[in-house]
Amino acid sequence: MKLNIKDIFNQELPADSILENNRRQVVNACFSFVKPKQTANPELLHTSPEMLNNLGLSEADAKSEAFLKVFTGNEVLPNTNPYAMCYGGHQFGNWAGQLGDGRAINLFEVEHDNTNWQVQLKGAGETPYSRNADGLAVLRSSVREYLCSEAMYHLGVPTTRALSLALSGDQVLRDVMYDGNSAYEKGAIVCRTAESFLRFGSFQIFAANQDDETLKTLVDYTIKHHFTHLGEPSKETYIQFFKTVSERTLDMIIHWQRVGFVHGVMNTDNMSILGLTIDYGPYGWLEGYDYGWTPNTTDRQHKRYRYGNQPNIGLWNLLQLANAIYPLINDAEPLETILNQYKDNFEIERLKMIRSKLGLQLEDETDSAFILELEDVLHLTEIDMTIFFRNLSDFKKENPSEGLKVIHDAFYKPDEVIGNIEKRWNEWFDKYSKRLTTESFSQKERMEKMNQVNPKYVLRNYMAQLAIDDADKGDYKLIDELFNMLKKPYNEQPEYQKWFAKRPEWARDKVGCSMLSCSS
Ligand code: AMP
Ligand code: MG
Repeated sequence: MKLNIKDIFNQELPADSILENNRRQVVNACFSFVKPKQTANPELLHTSPEMLNNLGLSEADAKSEAFLKVFTGNEVLPNTNPYAMCYGGHQFGNWAGQLGDGRAINLFEVEHDNTNWQVQLKGAGETPYSRNADGLAVLRSSVREYLCSEAMYHLGVPTTRALSLALSGDQVLRDVMYDGNSAYEKGAIVCRTAESFLRFGSFQIFAANQDDETLKTLVDYTIKHHFTHLGEPSKETYIQFFKTVSERTLDMIIHWQRVGFVHGVMNTDNMSILGLTIDYGPYGWLEGYDYGWTPNTTDRQHKRYRYGNQPNIGLWNLLQLANAIYPLINDAEPLETILNQYKDNFEIERLKMIRSKLGLQLEDETDSAFILELEDVLHLTEIDMTIFFRNLSDFKKENPSEGLKVIHDAFYKPDEVIGNIEKRWNEWFDKYSKRLTTESFSQKERMEKMNQVNPKYVLRNYMAQLAIDDADKGDYKLIDELFNMLKKPYNEQPEYQKWFAKRPEWARDKVGCSMLSCSS
């Protein structure tokens, strides 16, 4: 196994001078050196061929003993110095102080094909940032992160990636529903990768500690390696840096809204500075189209991180980042302008995105009202977002009265589509039909365009849960099946037709299938 190791983060940034692995508040440092834990009986369950390739590894490498050992933390490669990153964050709107990589350990960085990948294990044992937890991860949350991060990549959504999924062979104690019923579960380790795992919270921690010097060092490092095009550090560069982060964050969230992804825990420590989807926890996919839906049981009451609120939370989080880097700029106005721009751009980009989902190429001044009306009818009775948009490409403008038939399979309670609800839907289809007559594309062309933005297959929570239940019993075939299917989410793939279906009723209120806790 040959890797082109090129460590930068732990070479260029200030390290914690303490080398002991005990819990502590870390100051004036971006990370702490720490070794992963030896595990009882590591077993590799799956690897991503695309990620192997990105790192310059082969399928044969993935089968080697060295691979198993390195990517479960049981062997540290010579000349590498694993470390956990220091960061803070706002959790559910409140400043939570130091958080950091409590159960993530960065192994090294690999340069391949002009890309520098950080390679990180999640669930490889305690670090100075583990606080009162064990540094471990269970199989269920690891399967979810592994499958979903690769699926998001293939959907075209900016995301961290995953290289491998392994069992540690250790047992991990978890209280899934936080109700005092703890039980042992299989421990697992995901190896994940990204060009950087820096988060908004990585910058916030230094602002909170009034450590402007390390803050500047980290921002300069980030610009040098990840926003290279911005050039030498200066007040103007810092402003452009914030502007770019703001644009990337918006772009990521627009993608989430397009595919119906709800992150579930948009705390500032889970916001990537590169605008990548990061930290797959109690996330979920919209089944019934509902702005108020959140998959996270911890957020059940306030629904801060509900689907319809993700764009606002992006803005709120950016405001926290602006506050954090303010000491380098000392001028609020340009930062406020950028935040206001986010709001304006959100409206523009959202409209563009929904137009594309409806197969509309032209811009029409009535689109805003027309789309608002669609959102209203979508909320009248439960309708599956993925199936609705996918089947809508079959709509023929010549037959608006057939519209309801085209989307029939998407309704969870088709019996409710009568009276006023039926009338409202038919009115909308009439408008859609008229709107389509202003377009020049043929129905076939429109269908092709729509099918490139409206996925046919997404990782519904119940699907992930079925794969987890099998994996718990030692059967990993479903992980492989879903992994392969989700590589081509926009293709018809008739062999997987059974997964193009509404959430079954048994899954509606089952733990893991619709709502999830943060326990992982
Ligand atoms: P999250 O919101 O799940 O991304 O995690 C919030 C914070 O809790 C991060 O600092 C994590 O590293 C930490 N954390 C979560 N689970 C564990 C665990 N099992 N052991 C140690 N730290 C954890
Ligand atoms: Mg996190």
